[in-house]
Amino acid sequence: MKYALLAVVLLAAFFIWRHKRRQRQRELQQQQAQRQATERERQLGQPVAMTRCRHCGLHLPLAEATQGKLGHYCGPEHRQHAEN
Ligand SMILES: [Zn+2]
Repeated sequence: MKYALLAVVLLAAFFIWRHKRRQRQRELQQQQAQRQATERERQLGQPVAMTRCRHCGLHLPLAEATQGKLGHYCGPEHRQHAEN
């Protein structure tokens, strides 16, 4: 009878331990998902400076534009067309 009681106590301790471990894993996963969502929002929320090609009118990010004497272009070909 003593052993049966001991087995019940050990089983209960095991189930409690397992439950807490799963709960902790879930919390960690939620925290990670939250961090990723925040990072995504931060990146999406950043405004990107846009510009317009002086030759064809294409809108493109300023960082990808080709700088000319008269303004921005979508590529070196259009800079050449417009400025020569
Ligand atoms: Zn262009």
